[in-house]
Amino acid sequence: MLSAYAKLILMPKLADELKKIVDGEVSTSKKDIDFHSHDASMFELLPDVVVYPQDSDDLKKIVKYVSKNKAKNPGLSITMRSAGTDMSGGAINNSIILNMTKHFNKIVETGPKEAVVQPGVFYRDFEQETLKHNALMPSFPASRELCSVGGMVANNSGGEKSLQYGKTENFVRELKVILSDGNEYTLKPLQKTEVRKKIKQNDFEGKMYKNLFDLLEKNYETLKKAKPKVSKDSTGYHLWNVWDPKKEVFDLTRLFTGSQGTLGIITEIKFKLLPSPKESGSLIIFLNHLDNLGEVIKKVMSHKPATFEGFDNYTLNLGFKLFFNFRKTLGWRKTMQLGLQLLPSLVKFRRGIPKMVLIAEFTGNTDEEVGEKVRQLHKDMVDFGHDALFEEDETEDKEMKFRIMRRESFNLLRNKVKDKHTAPFIDDLVVPPKHLPSFLPELRQIINKYKLLATVAGHMGDGNFHVIPLMKFELASEREKIEPAMREVNELVLRYGGSMSGEHNDGMSRGPWLENQYGPEVVGLFRQVKDILDPKNIFNPHKKTDADWEFSMQNLRKHF
Ligand SMILES: Cc1cc2nc3c(=O)[nH]c(=O)nc-3n(C[C@H](O)[C@H](O)[C@H](O)COP(=O)(O)OP(=O)(O)OC[C@H]3O[C@@H](n4cnc5c(N)ncnc54)[C@H](O)[C@@H]3O)c2cc1C
Repeated sequence: MLSAYAKLILMPKLADELKKIVDGEVSTSKKDIDFHSHDASMFELLPDVVVYPQDSDDLKKIVKYVSKNKAKNPGLSITMRSAGTDMSGGAINNSIILNMTKHFNKIVETGPKEAVVQPGVFYRDFEQETLKHNALMPSFPASRELCSVGGMVANNSGGEKSLQYGKTENFVRELKVILSDGNEYTLKPLQKTEVRKKIKQNDFEGKMYKNLFDLLEKNYETLKKAKPKVSKDSTGYHLWNVWDPKKEVFDLTRLFTGSQGTLGIITEIKFKLLPSPKESGSLIIFLNHLDNLGEVIKKVMSHKPATFEGFDNYTLNLGFKLFFNFRKTLGWRKTMQLGLQLLPSLVKFRRGIPKMVLIAEFTGNTDEEVGEKVRQLHKDMVDFGHDALFEEDETEDKEMKFRIMRRESFNLLRNKVKDKHTAPFIDDLVVPPKHLPSFLPELRQIINKYKLLATVAGHMGDGNFHVIPLMKFELASEREKIEPAMREVNELVLRYGGSMSGEHNDGMSRGPWLENQYGPEVVGLFRQVKDILDPKNIFNPHKKTDADWEFSMQNLRKHF
């Protein structure tokens, strides 16, 4: 690390040098530095300089500059940022931050089956365009109103529709990326013969293909076994998905999706799109006890819902308490509409708030088809003794009321609870859903043991839960809870055959724990891959395989 004095001398020089080589804006203003020192995680890292790259040429020049000067100035690095909603510290760092939302925000082309888009485009804008073609990229996260498509690819994001369609990795057809040699490449699935051709090239790309191919072929069995046995995962590098020896297909988009900006810069994405479902309807199930949660989950899953979400009584209470804050993302009109729609439910809750709310959504070609699916599940839930709200006849807006609570719960916490801060460190655990009946009470025991004020919301069908405690980081007694609580939760999750992250990725919070999940051999392979692609470690240090718990804890957020 540079001393504060050395930084004072070097940093204006860094900004001046970058200004000389790029067309985009280069800023060291206090406003820019402060803004870019946070994402949605519990960490804080002050960048030296923020750049808004104008085009790929700017990016290439910056990569070449950093690569050339890294030996002289080891603190130099590049961290990409799109909308900055990363929950693990992926979008912050100490050196150069490249903000992609200002200039890399063009939707190049959209059709009913495919779209080409720049990474800084907000998902909400992208969806508006795809819907014009009755098409959807269905892996959008709960942060759909806030995040960009580049962040979704880099984190391999998922959301409510991932139960049916899988995560972002399933929708990436091609990527343009700038690698550590400062050149731009297209990544797409290649046949073995095409890989062989690449390997013969006597250049960075050829060497990369050779080293990666050798590594993946040699360690194929080990990697296959290492693949997490859950329906969604965003940890490590998904090496097991790159090389398919049966089909003889080698697909580096599978490695880059979910690599959290640690291997290179994504400059353009070609997405596969799906037809947008014509009709949908939901059954909202209110559980007044969790005694038969396991059977309820099994039963709901047997009806094959398109989405299956859930949240606990803490989330519901918070949604009611902080209701008017929904206006920040929804606007006043929608918020008032939501309030009116919720009134009948309040009457329902007069005998007490349910312990858990489940939302099972069904899709189909006609209202009748959807209605029948919802009715059948409704009957089963009544047989189980649970109250359920049938929303077949309501408008699309109305149907959203509990879904909005689920989607927005973390955002509410983040913005509204004044004296405490959200601490996402056990925010994305995933276990096979069959274990939930015994897993969830054990999880609640740990939460209570550490007196963590936390809501639980998530994707029931995938067994993927977001547990986000509220804490006062300024108190040592609170900070000291993080490590032991995280260790206990991780051990519990792994004991049940789960994964530490279903969709939020590793960053500074889970990166240091990767060996607990994968063991040293597989993490060793992850490190070799990082080394092949980024031998000087210029892309997003302190994340994933390069993360260090001490560094992470030293950089807990101090300013709010
Ligand atoms: C309220 C809330 C709810 C959320 N709900 C979900 C959810 O349901 N599911 C889910 O998966 N996530 C969720 N998240 C996490 C986050 O929103 C997603 O991971 C999102 O896709 C990140 O997008 P972004 O544009 O904000 O990315 P950023 O935060 O800007 O960046 C994310 C990561 O991608 C890298 N990156 C960004 N752009 C590039 C690029 N061009 N090239 C290479 N690397 C790049 C960054 O370095 C960083 O590591 C939630 C977050 C919040 C705040």
